[in-house]
Amino acid sequence: MKRFFFTPGPSQLYFTVEEHLKSALTENVPSISHRSAAFQEIYRHTTDLLKELFRLPAGYHIFFTGSATEIWERSIQNLVEYESCHFVNGAFSQRYAGIAENLGRKTSVIRVSEGKVVDVESVLITESCELIALTQNETSTGASHALGDVEKIRKGFPNQLISLDIVSCAPYSNIDYSLVDMAYLSVQKCFGLPAGLGVWIANERCIQKSETLLGKGMSIGSYHSLPELLAKSQKNQTPETPNVLGIYLLGKVAEDMLAKGLDMIRREIDYKAAVLYNAFEKSEFLSPFVKDPAHQSKTTLVAEVAVPSRVILNKLAEKGMIIGSGYGPFKERHIRIANFPTHSKEQVEVLADELLMIGK
Ligand SMILES: *Cc1c(COP(=O)(O)O)cnc(C)c1O
Repeated sequence: MKRFFFTPGPSQLYFTVEEHLKSALTENVPSISHRSAAFQEIYRHTTDLLKELFRLPAGYHIFFTGSATEIWERSIQNLVEYESCHFVNGAFSQRYAGIAENLGRKTSVIRVSEGKVVDVESVLITESCELIALTQNETSTGASHALGDVEKIRKGFPNQLISLDIVSCAPYSNIDYSLVDMAYLSVQKCFGLPAGLGVWIANERCIQKSETLLGKGMSIGSYHSLPELLAKSQKNQTPETPNVLGIYLLGKVAEDMLAKGLDMIRREIDYKAAVLYNAFEKSEFLSPFVKDPAHQSKTTLVAEVAVPSRVILNKLAEKGMIIGSGYGPFKERHIRIANFPTHSKEQVEVLADELLMIGK
């Protein structure tokens, strides 16, 4: 049976990826040298299209890493001398703080319970904190910040660097990147690509901070430090042999998304999210885990379940629909459903119907 993945990442590939994979093989993309002109052209194409897709202001750079997890580590090494501040509301935001601790930094954690988001109006952050880490969409719980929250943090804390996790909501979330200093994603979520590539957006303030730390004799890492990434990116290259195929495919998918139009993609995601939340509300076996509709994720939807999640997962798998279980301690108590650009309205409507058939 053909299987279709609604898992929150890796997920179903973007529907054009198969065709682009074939072209990549025809063009020998996996074999070309990462120091060749052909690679430089791929690099330039992908970064140009991402800048267009995200409407990045001048002075914002794009770098490639192995994953978003790597960017957690690199950003602490490059941007934090003593202390970072983390808004924690689930497993992914917690992991960033954990990595900062592993690297010997002091972390101040502003924590709210899972399913909620930190109320940005009421937070107090000390001046000693150098970087504020915010997760736009906490994939483990399906809790999303309102779009205006980043602006409030920016206004309240102009001296701090802001690091925004957009892993499971970009390019759906209409972020004004001029309000943050860095943002990052990995490509196996909304972009619908094979895992193994992280995208790091960073501005000049980040570059300067990393150079300051380097100047003080601190270790900012080696090949993936910001100054190294920047120097190579100016030649449309990477310090190491990168995931050339991943960078190629990302450029192609960014091109497809631009051709379709972000407005259309956003409208479809809003519609599909409404269909799914409606099913969560109607079903006696499901209810949205995030209670406040203003914070319910549109891209990674989480429902509490009245039966063990595996019962629901197995039933849907019989129909070829693969959804996610709960994350970590919520494994049996939640289901998680990805609503990414590749998931069509029709597929989501069928899934919602199946959810309503549970127990019938
Ligand atoms: C998946 C995810 C990550 C980690 O991505 P990797 O590619 O596994 O490094 C980080 N943050 C959020 C919100 C995620 O959903």
